[in-house]
Amino acid sequence: MSERSHVTIEAIDTRTPTGQCPNCKLNVAFDHVSRRDVWPALKDRPFAARSGADLSGASTSAEPRPKDDVFRVVQHILSCQNCRKTAVVHQHWGPDLPKGDDLDGFVEAVKERASKPRLLVLVHPRRSAQTLDEAAPQEVRDLFSEGTRCQEAGALRAAAAMYRAAVEELCKDRSATGRNLKDKIADLTNRGVPADVVRDLDEARTLGNWSLHDGLAFSYAEVDDVASLIQEAVFVVYVQPEQRAALRAARQQRRDQARAGA
Ligand SMILES: [Zn+2]
Repeated sequence: MSERSHVTIEAIDTRTPTGQCPNCKLNVAFDHVSRRDVWPALKDRPFAARSGADLSGASTSAEPRPKDDVFRVVQHILSCQNCRKTAVVHQHWGPDLPKGDDLDGFVEAVKERASKPRLLVLVHPRRSAQTLDEAAPQEVRDLFSEGTRCQEAGALRAAAAMYRAAVEELCKDRSATGRNLKDKIADLTNRGVPADVVRDLDEARTLGNWSLHDGLAFSYAEVDDVASLIQEAVFVVYVQPEQRAALRAARQQRRDQARAGA
């Protein structure tokens, strides 16, 4: 598994969160340097300066404080107590949404305005986006890296659609034919692709389909799984044969040299 921008940091809304430092890679305690909403509007969210001096209590305005947006992004700047370097983390807030086609439930959840942290994304230091091996066709690689960018931005539905498109392109490259993507993936077994790889790719197709037709919510981990199985498939379909060909060529060369020297 390669590194992803999705991070786990304990107690991020305290003065000393803990977790793996993206700079020195050690498990550390951080000093919490700053916290503010960066989307949809800028809004500082300092910790209370001293005990009992909470900002909300100190307000002299008679106006009721507007409720927070149900979807918002809070930026946290942390400083590692070990290496002293900073990390910038975005905390995505949103409501609990019902699964499936429960439209009323969906509307209710958004109206409720009961928002909670859903996802922590490491913004800086940036981790390199997931890429496919260079042995894969350029078009497949482009779609895949677009998918990982969507994934890291929390646009999971878009990511699933891009991964599906990458699988579609892979089928095209292997000249797999069929009426639809399912048939094309099945046809890959006739194009020298091992059956277990074909089965995995079919999973990617299913995920992409949900994203386009059913409106189901799915998790980061699910989308991440599909990204790794595409990487696996690319390894088996493109990288391994290339490596085998290189080994074969090297063997042939040794033989030729031995013969020439004999
Ligand atoms: Zn560090």
